[in-house]
Amino acid sequence: MRVLVGRMREFGPTIFAEMTQLAVRTGAINLGQGFPDEDGPAAMLAVATEAILGGRNQYAPGLGVPELRQAVSDHAKETQGLSYDPDTEILVTVGATEAIAAAVLALVEPGDEVIVFEPFYDSYPAAIALAGGARRAVPLRPVDGRFTFDPADLTATPRTKAIIVNSPHNPTGTVFTHDELAAIAAFCRDNDVIAITDEVYEHLTFDGVKHVSLATFPGMRERTVRISSAGKSFSVTGWKTGWICSTPELVSAVTAVKQFLTYTSAVPWQLAVAHALRHELGWVNGLRDQLQAKRDRLSRGLSRAGFEVLRTAGTYFVQTDIRPLGFADGLELTRRLPELAGVVAIPTQVFYDHTEAGRHYVRFAFCKRDEVIDAAVERLSALQA
Ligand code: PMP
Ligand code: GLN
Repeated sequence: MRVLVGRMREFGPTIFAEMTQLAVRTGAINLGQGFPDEDGPAAMLAVATEAILGGRNQYAPGLGVPELRQAVSDHAKETQGLSYDPDTEILVTVGATEAIAAAVLALVEPGDEVIVFEPFYDSYPAAIALAGGARRAVPLRPVDGRFTFDPADLTATPRTKAIIVNSPHNPTGTVFTHDELAAIAAFCRDNDVIAITDEVYEHLTFDGVKHVSLATFPGMRERTVRISSAGKSFSVTGWKTGWICSTPELVSAVTAVKQFLTYTSAVPWQLAVAHALRHELGWVNGLRDQLQAKRDRLSRGLSRAGFEVLRTAGTYFVQTDIRPLGFADGLELTRRLPELAGVVAIPTQVFYDHTEAGRHYVRFAFCKRDEVIDAAVERLSALQA
């Protein structure tokens, strides 16, 4: 691809696009890309259609419609006890993806280092590359079936500008504990590092585990760019409506970039998400309970089918080790999985710089109807034969 700028050449089409295309082409059950197969709350959907039919179809103000900024502010207060001024400390974005890219482009100079936990969500390295930054991967490794990191691996150089912290974590399903977050907070404070937190799964935690924002730790509110989005909480991944909460200075910096990426974000979705943050958290509690049951259903099924299943405390995903089934390479296996078993999954190794460490992991999504999960498990049982 000679026309593509050098800094983007290491990135091909995303694994999600590749694997969803594979599912469409082969008719396989898609437990790859994380999107639910049932709709979000009906009243929220109605607000979006009413907004369109009611003439709310022109540009939003740059920071986002006031209704949503106020709802995001109230939601942060209610769920995390964090106060953000809706006029200066909140910016609405086109999904968390734009928020991440705009934050990195706004804060990272060419040559600055950004730390990511590995395996990482695929948009982080791409955003860092666009900014001309250098990424450094700190490994998450399974300890007693749960992915965690060694605080001793959190080290900084004079060029370390930021760390991207995703909890609940895609693709491992880890929700960072108080001690893990405290270690990251101490690292940020001691080394004057900015935290960019990706909290898109903030409501999708299981077994009574609570999501706690890194911004609640001492000295962290002023150095954290908090990012979330409506897609996962309200089952509308296609709406691409996200937001940033931070200090006026950091929000202004990110806005300076966002205004030239997309100018503003789509209005009807913003109004519907404002409604959802105010009135649909009860619905979200129901979704969380359903997802917990689906996690158990899929985890049990995958164990029966011969996978080693790791523990998931949040998100849409379970992580499996394929070696007990006699496979060694998840990328090879997932490319053949439609033909072997009629199922699509995600090879976790593509989220690693140190590919070897992730070669034997495959991620499955459980945000699907029970009969879809059951059918997938039944098909996957064929691998054992
Ligand atoms: N971060 C993580 C960890 C994700 O899994 C996703 C995918 N939903 C995103 C960011 C992107 O979110 P959005 O669709 O709101 O851009
Ligand atoms: N976040 C979703 C996942 O991890 C996919 C988002 C995308 O396709 N970029 O599966």
